[in-house]
Amino acid sequence: MNILVANLGSTSLKFRLFRFDGAGGAALLAKGGYERVTDYGKAIDDCLAELKAAGHVRTPADLHGVGFKTVLGKNLTGCVPADERVIAALEGFKEIAPAHNPPYAAGIQRFREKLPGVPLVALFETAFYQWMPEAATRYAVPQAWHEAGVRRYGFHGASHKFVAERSAELLGRQDIAERVRQLYQAGPTSVKGRPLRVISCHLGGSSSVTGIRDGVAVGTSMGLSPQSGLPQNNRVGDLDSAAVPFVMKTFGLSIAEVERQMTKESGLLGLSGVSNDLRDIRAAADTGNARAQLALDVLVHSARHWIGAFLLELGGCDALVFTAGIGENNPDLRAAFCAQLEELGLVIDPAKNNALRGAEGEISTAGSRAKIFVIPANEELVVARETVRCIAARN
Ligand code: AMP
Repeated sequence: MNILVANLGSTSLKFRLFRFDGAGGAALLAKGGYERVTDYGKAIDDCLAELKAAGHVRTPADLHGVGFKTVLGKNLTGCVPADERVIAALEGFKEIAPAHNPPYAAGIQRFREKLPGVPLVALFETAFYQWMPEAATRYAVPQAWHEAGVRRYGFHGASHKFVAERSAELLGRQDIAERVRQLYQAGPTSVKGRPLRVISCHLGGSSSVTGIRDGVAVGTSMGLSPQSGLPQNNRVGDLDSAAVPFVMKTFGLSIAEVERQMTKESGLLGLSGVSNDLRDIRAAADTGNARAQLALDVLVHSARHWIGAFLLELGGCDALVFTAGIGENNPDLRAAFCAQLEELGLVIDPAKNNALRGAEGEISTAGSRAKIFVIPANEELVVARETVRCIAARN
């Protein structure tokens, strides 16, 4: 079974082609992409031509499904056929996710025209949060705002779901791993045994922390939009709502300009004044740049704030997991995130931590009550797997 995963940006199309064997194993056959895309139809043709030339997909009939990591839909989430309903849901919330929703709506439309008969599947980034307690989703806003959709949705669902499944496997809880695999088809099935409590830290260009009990999210740091929670690369993260009218009045800014500054000039870039990339910020901090050091400190402070929130919410944890570009590759930051948690049962092993970059492994001491893991993110594989499950569930 050949599954294409299409990652649509405002001017880009990136793709990965996976082949699934009958036993659920997946091999990555091809990956590539196009920048400066002005016509998704042409980019899709180019992608299919590339896959044909490589001998992977001779005709569209050799393609058994296309998966999309859609971000935020109005009144719609989960893993669902990418049909008119999905396009309408993306358009309904294009104001909240302006960088993500319009390209996905346009791109899915073009895939539908170009590949009639090929099942298309949308896996919403919000899907993992469908079962959060209502109190974890509500903002204290007027009821009309809530009814218009102003609530906490959560993002990076594909990544945190992968961590939920993989960490359960690593902890020997196959029952929970299977529960996670079936989650979008079966919902949270009943569980026996000790509760499994995992705190998943997706730390990259975009960051979030999610608390997970028995494979299901109980809370997360991102809210209405991906511009919330931890400081992001150049996006603001959590901000007191009073700041927006204040800067509009103080600097005479329009809404559009405030939005631009909050999404393009804030986050680690705004704090450091150096870069939105952690490697540059680190290099500057190492040469004594105080703002760069402060950006790192704010990231650590914010991540620990959310780790602490879920430690309490979950009543402790069995595993703390780091994933994504920053989480996978920065032992010194991991050490800072885990500093002085010994009393809470989390003891990082400096040697194991320093030795591990970009690979899966355990970085806690043998005596640590809870495990600390690094689990590399592979969101495209998650989308491909869920696409297979969605197609199988419909047949
Ligand atoms: P992501 O969005 O998951 O691709 O993560 C991007 C972030 O991870 C950027 O801030 C990078 O600086 C950081 N990152 C990626 N690779 C490395 C690396 N090898 N060493 C340090 N930081 C890295």
